[in-house]
Amino acid sequence: MKGPQMTAPQLIDPFQRAVSYLRVSVTDRCDFRCYYCMSEDMTFLPKKELLTLEELDRMCSAFVDMGVSKLRITGGEPLVRKGIMTFFDSMSRHLASGALKELTLTTNGSQLGRFAQPLYDAGVRRINVSLDTLNEAKFKQITRWGKFKQVMDGVDAADKAGIKIKINAVALKGTNDDELHDMVEWCGTRGFDLTWIEVMPMGDMGDADRLDQYWPLSDVRKQLESRWSVADIGLNTGGPAKYVSIKETGGRVGFITPLTHNFCESCNRVRLTCTGQLFLCLGQEDEADLRAALRDHEGNEALNDAIRAAIARKPKGHDFDYSRQKIAGEMTRHMNHTGG
Ligand code: SAM
Ligand code: SF4
Repeated sequence: MKGPQMTAPQLIDPFQRAVSYLRVSVTDRCDFRCYYCMSEDMTFLPKKELLTLEELDRMCSAFVDMGVSKLRITGGEPLVRKGIMTFFDSMSRHLASGALKELTLTTNGSQLGRFAQPLYDAGVRRINVSLDTLNEAKFKQITRWGKFKQVMDGVDAADKAGIKIKINAVALKGTNDDELHDMVEWCGTRGFDLTWIEVMPMGDMGDADRLDQYWPLSDVRKQLESRWSVADIGLNTGGPAKYVSIKETGGRVGFITPLTHNFCESCNRVRLTCTGQLFLCLGQEDEADLRAALRDHEGNEALNDAIRAAIARKPKGHDFDYSRQKIAGEMTRHMNHTGG
């Protein structure tokens, strides 16, 4: 493999953190309606607001050119975006050049049956599949529109294609808090890592009260230790996850605790929405509109300047806090807009 072909200086924020990881939401649409993420009657963005696949390519390539070496594609459900494989195929040129070290995605798994092999062929080697339960009835209750068997078939297809799978489960009190051991066992048997995510105060949840849903990961860990031999491992992903190993299964379990721990010091990531806004921190409203810089100019100079100006504003950290028994620092945008 050839060495990286970076042509512009790296992106360094005011706190000397190198920005090397871009998450890109390619659509706000989804074939599921998970109750912690969307309301059932969502209004989606008009198509013309979205970056086209060509624009997404130009945008991502500009970031790669400035040192971004990891690209995670998310949504909404990224695999329901029409023509999305064209985009993956096109991004694979940055893997071939060595500039991009990883091209990955976060998916609900529903479309993996048809896309697992093409994704592998485009260079995708690891994916995150969001799955909060192994119980079909509960799955329906959580996702409202999801089909459990289709997701399980999708997981099998990805596994068979040789893609490494990490399961992401949102920890939901009263919903999947009785499934911890089953999930650990199933993931252990299948050779999947498992990460538990604390529910975050995103968007308008309708009737659902997030404080009722909140199952702190300190409790998840305690429960885990009651049954399994758990050992800390110092795996640093540069992100918010902390990992333990499970002796009995040989698998790893991670915890993403954006609300109870501050992981901001090592933050290396920024998020691009499907409309071309760059969010500098998941927990802050500050954003930069890159779409105008991209659409209004043929060359990339204005876009590159806009990216650099945005990174120069990356804040030190976020303000989420459940501890005051009210949801402080609550963000109004839905998770599907910025991507998880
Ligand atoms: N549709 C894809 C999926 O579900 O994997 C990608 C987008 S989804 C918004 C990304 C991740 O965000 C998923 O793992 C999902 O469970 C998580 N998520 C959504 N709403 C959340 C919330 N309120 N709190 C914590 N995680 C959330
Ligand atoms: Fe769709 Fe993912 Fe949100 Fe569920 S979590 S509604 S699958 S975007």
